[in-house]
Amino acid sequence: METKYIFVTGGVVSSLGKGIISSSLACLLKARGYRVTIQKFDPYINIDPGTLNPYEHGECYVTVDGHEADLDLGHYERFTDIQTTRANNVTTGRIYQSVIDKERRGDYLGKTVQIVPHITDEIKRNVKALGNTGNFDFIITEIGGTVGDIESLPFIESVRQLRWELGENCICVHLTYVPYIAAAKELKTKPTQHSVKQLQEVGIQPDILILRTERDISPEMRRKIALFCNVSPDAVIQSIDVPTIYQVPVNMHLQHLDELVLRKTGTPIEGEPHMEPWMQFLNKLKNATKTVNIGIVGKYVELPDAYKSINESLLQAAAYNDHRLNITFIHSEKLNEGNVDEQLSPLDGVIIAPGFGQRGIDGKFVALKWCRGHDVPTFGICLGMQCMVIEFARNVLGMTDANSTEMDTKTPYNVIDLMEEQKGISNMGGTMRLGAYDCELLPDSTAARAYGTTSVRERHRHRFEFNSDYRGQFENAGMRCVGENPASHLVEVVEIPGKRWFVGTQYHPEYSSTVLHPNPLFVDFVRAAIAYGEEAGHTN
Ligand code: GLN
Repeated sequence: METKYIFVTGGVVSSLGKGIISSSLACLLKARGYRVTIQKFDPYINIDPGTLNPYEHGECYVTVDGHEADLDLGHYERFTDIQTTRANNVTTGRIYQSVIDKERRGDYLGKTVQIVPHITDEIKRNVKALGNTGNFDFIITEIGGTVGDIESLPFIESVRQLRWELGENCICVHLTYVPYIAAAKELKTKPTQHSVKQLQEVGIQPDILILRTERDISPEMRRKIALFCNVSPDAVIQSIDVPTIYQVPVNMHLQHLDELVLRKTGTPIEGEPHMEPWMQFLNKLKNATKTVNIGIVGKYVELPDAYKSINESLLQAAAYNDHRLNITFIHSEKLNEGNVDEQLSPLDGVIIAPGFGQRGIDGKFVALKWCRGHDVPTFGICLGMQCMVIEFARNVLGMTDANSTEMDTKTPYNVIDLMEEQKGISNMGGTMRLGAYDCELLPDSTAARAYGTTSVRERHRHRFEFNSDYRGQFENAGMRCVGENPASHLVEVVEIPGKRWFVGTQYHPEYSSTVLHPNPLFVDFVRAAIAYGEEAGHTN
């Protein structure tokens, strides 16, 4: 079949969940046997979100090919089980950089370079790049931002041009908000009408409207919206608040979103999507009665999106262990010897979060010393693993002031040090050790047992690493390096054997955990946490 293009735009306000809607549609199309991918176009000037802090943009997600990406790509992978790449996330910065490079090369010699057609052509080229691989039947393109933003205009204009060029092979899904005004006890459709008008003003007629709402939208109200917005009433779909985002594909299917998309793109509708494995997961999630209590020690506690992939990996792991998940965020800046017992003792398992820089690091050491001493299942990820190594050096090996050279360049014990390949690097953007690398695990390690294999491939995002000069001292004192990269021999996984579950990974296993294939390390960590909680008599 010819490749079909589906654009997802948003109106009224941001944070309506375009990523979840795009992911849900992709999930349904995939369950119907189609080859699907989702890409996100972000209207900011940064080349990628790698240089943004989590306060600006939530978690930075990393693709297998080493692209620092918007966190929506995490949703795409979790919902579809299809890996994304650099091509799935394009920013205004990337578009302009490419056009300016071409201008300097002389590709437009003699011409004035303009937003239309040069920038829009470059956007269109990027939109179609994945389609041109021949690997996909459906390309879902999410346009970041809200219709009407100055920044997103060139993207919207490109969508208008593509709809014209691609005809039936292209449709537009517009996501808007229907607020409930409590004082009037009414849902209001006016913002939706305005936002559709705004789209129409720039030449785009949406084919399908999805309305975010806290309350049920009546058939009468749907008809009214359909009438005002030039769409058929069956193409007005509501996306009501649900307890879990993983319910959204099911809700979309109940309102025939997948059939609508097939019909409107001229694709035959055959049978039903194969959603059984997804439903099994949802049932586990809904039917779990006992709770597992996991703490995340980090410095971005007030931002739920900062550790998005870790939260989702834990949720999946809990569901597959037939438990509900209760996450407690523990502010590493506020954790100290005086309050650690009170804060950590109710927990069944503790995650020491990834991160950068000195702020909040001491709380991570306090937490790790406590967890190691109390033999609580503990999982260190990236900086969390590095902190495991430093805490062990200080408190077991007696290396006072041991540190990472990221925090203290003059430390007498640089147990975590800048990687050799990083030493000449001065540019900050896209220059970390990024993407998927092989890791060989010792067969008798906790990690190998969890994965059920000794060869894994996981994603990285770091500049510093375990300093192998100290490896012998650590191993003699009981911290084993159980995973390493076969080519560079970088230490990727450390463990303390004999503990219930004490594992640190230099890589980020959370990036590869999906609904249908939860990451085995998370599943095993949560299993160990549940067992410990029961043993410790924690109330569930
Ligand atoms: N700051 C550490 C490094 O660069 C860890 C990074 C992380 O946790 N992602 O190596």
